[in-house]
Amino acid sequence: MTYRAFLVEKNEDGTFSRSVVEREISDLPEGELLIDVKFSSLNYKDALSAIGNPGVTRNYPHTPGIDAAGTIIESTVQNFSTGDDVVVIGFDLGMNTSGGFGERVRVPAAWAVPLPQGLSLQEAMTLGTAGFTAALSIHKLEQAGMNPKGGPVLVSGATGGVGSVAIKLLDQLGYEPHAVTGKLDQHDFLTSIGAREILSREDLEAGGDRPLLKELWGGVVDTVGGGMLFNAIKGLRYGQSAAACGLVNSPNIPATVLPFILRHVNLLGIDSVELPLSEKVEIWDKLASIWKPAGLTELKKLTLSLNTLSDAIDTILDGGMVGRGVLDLGL
Ligand code: NDP
Repeated sequence: MTYRAFLVEKNEDGTFSRSVVEREISDLPEGELLIDVKFSSLNYKDALSAIGNPGVTRNYPHTPGIDAAGTIIESTVQNFSTGDDVVVIGFDLGMNTSGGFGERVRVPAAWAVPLPQGLSLQEAMTLGTAGFTAALSIHKLEQAGMNPKGGPVLVSGATGGVGSVAIKLLDQLGYEPHAVTGKLDQHDFLTSIGAREILSREDLEAGGDRPLLKELWGGVVDTVGGGMLFNAIKGLRYGQSAAACGLVNSPNIPATVLPFILRHVNLLGIDSVELPLSEKVEIWDKLASIWKPAGLTELKKLTLSLNTLSDAIDTILDGGMVGRGVLDLGL
């Protein structure tokens, strides 16, 4: 039996090529659940997998896709049955385990979350890892004391997947999100999802040589890293926190301890991949109920098929993504 999949292959000259092929179900890895994938989504990490980034994927040929939502067609465990709808994000899916850019995945039951009541499969993938990570960041910031009275919350990489969902969620939760973007022409999109102020990347990079900046932010959701992250930390109000989840600008932070020891601020790490399943379920349940973004479809800017994925991968690598790209395996 075969299924359609997006395949990345390593060529003899070390380059990587992408195509849509028929793959054998028998080639999927062992696992307790065989899933008929209905939707996936495009995340930055998928693009890294598609260009051979060894920090994401070591073995090719490979089908990326760190997100998958679909229906179980075979289960060897009691807690899941044929016909159950499930969501799988993170763990090794799409990294070195064949991922959601194919019509079938086979995974350990410990990676799967029953589709939360209140979300459709497509809505779950409109959120996907990016939306989950935005929610996890806000959840952890609130655990550290962030609240709407603490001041505006800065979101970097604002038009991207994590950034756009973070803005929408913060707005809905009563915060005042301020967006940092390299795409000032996306002003209307950013204000439509709730951004109150829009800063350029240059605005955030200003003052990099100063030890501290004016106390502005009641929290930070950072998806970019680098000097932009440290400038955001230098602009935190006393005792507030920044959540770091991404590195599209740089994995390095040009930092001193000064904001930490003079302003009592915190830098929080965010990992959606290995987060224990029980905590994943808690975040998904929130996203399906009290935190479910109103007008979720506003965030879905692209509906992708296996055949249009390759172009979208180039767009996300160029930093050109706006909102979320959802892969419909039925197309
Ligand atoms: P996207 O590509 O959708 O969004 C990233 C955005 O960052 C871009 O749209 C752009 O927004 C901005 N950007 C791009 N290049 C640069 C640059 N050189 N300097 C500053 N800003 C830039 O990616 P995702 O939202 O899917 O992921 C964002 C980051 O978060 C990635 O590094 C990803 O690996 C990480 N991530 C981490 C997770 C975790 O568990 N820790 C989970 C999910 C994602 P704009 O033009 O508006 O500035």
